[in-house]
Amino acid sequence: MTELLELYGSMGISPAVYAYGEQTIEKLKERFEAIDKIAEHNQAKVLSAMQKNKVSAACFAATTGYGYDDMGRDNLEKVYADVFHTQAALVRPQITCGTHALTVALSANLLPGDELLSPVGLPYDTLQEVIGIRKSPCSLAEYGVAYRQVDLLKDGSFDYAGIRAAINEKTKLVTIQRSKGYATRPTFSVKQIGELIAFCKSIKPDVLVMVDNCYGEFVETIEPSDVGADMVVGSLIKNPGGGLAPIGGYICGTEECVSRCAYRLSAPGLGQEVGANLGLMPSLYQGFFLAPTVVAGAEKGAIFAANLYEPLGFKCVPNATESRHDIIQAVELGSEEGMIAFCKGIQAAAPVDSYATPMPWDMPGYNDKVIMAAGAFVQGSSIELSADGPIRPPYAVYFQGGLTWQHAKLGILMSLQKMVDAGLVKI
Ligand SMILES: *Cc1c(COP(=O)(O)O)cnc(C)c1O
Repeated sequence: MTELLELYGSMGISPAVYAYGEQTIEKLKERFEAIDKIAEHNQAKVLSAMQKNKVSAACFAATTGYGYDDMGRDNLEKVYADVFHTQAALVRPQITCGTHALTVALSANLLPGDELLSPVGLPYDTLQEVIGIRKSPCSLAEYGVAYRQVDLLKDGSFDYAGIRAAINEKTKLVTIQRSKGYATRPTFSVKQIGELIAFCKSIKPDVLVMVDNCYGEFVETIEPSDVGADMVVGSLIKNPGGGLAPIGGYICGTEECVSRCAYRLSAPGLGQEVGANLGLMPSLYQGFFLAPTVVAGAEKGAIFAANLYEPLGFKCVPNATESRHDIIQAVELGSEEGMIAFCKGIQAAAPVDSYATPMPWDMPGYNDKVIMAAGAFVQGSSIELSADGPIRPPYAVYFQGGLTWQHAKLGILMSLQKMVDAGLVKI
């Protein structure tokens, strides 16, 4: 124990911060056990999908050029479809990020004259330009797709009356964002999402429902595709990539929706048949295999952060005790200085670029300056220990990731240490 204290001390963590951390963890044992149980369930789910689809070394072979008959790629899509319990899946390194995956899903399934509905308030920042809420070249709005939005009620619940009134003959697709993104609303449970999907389909049975599943994968034992979503969409440099996928996105859903996505991603007539894997299959398979336990470690880190910061007077969303449906932890630090100190700590705890100092900058796709702390093996990967947030009130830092619980813990302790060093908090 004293050796560990000395080691932490040599890295800059004071005995007082360490002791406060230990005292916090002592109270979290039962919750951590429950998370391990969910990880065990999801590990078995992924494993059985890999066994059922006879994953073999042949699946790891690199393909180049057109990528016709890419057995490894096609089989990975079957594994994803089995884990998400969907008819089909599109899992590709050619999908460059989560925003791209969502753009493909939306633009493939919405035609001119159709209307898109968000019944859960304003979508994630980058989606606003995709939809055309903020004017942008090539937005859905430019292609004649209308957009309607129903905000959440004050208590964060769904405005069912408003949603009923908003659904009309043009409503083609309903988009539901599971995670809070850069908002301070609650993240929805899969059960809540299921209730919302059932409600929308009771009003219009043929309406399509897409769930932005970013940061939600493997936090629960069920996914939105288990409760009626036609498409679930996410990024491979978040949860399902397990920290190993160097790029990529996925869309799991009905055969009809997913094949349209494939035609949009490549070209009409080509669809899922093209798209070489460029040697990325080992990391996509192995990352997916590791994802349930990586997500569990990240979730423990999020809970630890809330329980560390909340007693010090910082509002945390989710709060220290409520149930979790994604791996994001928002901590309202109340000032730009607080955000910078917190992010400095996360950066200083990174295995890569630990000597860098994060500063606010104008990031493409975002309206406000954004600060990001990330010292990741995969650039921009936010399943790795990272923190970011737009510089605007309430000056919330969104903390997520950690490939191991031990690393997440160290990073959060370091963030607190930097806050203490800057005189922003006393313990
Ligand atoms: C990260 C995220 C996205 C966009 O993903 P990128 O990979 O950053 O493009 C979309 N929606 C939500 C809720 C996210 O968290």
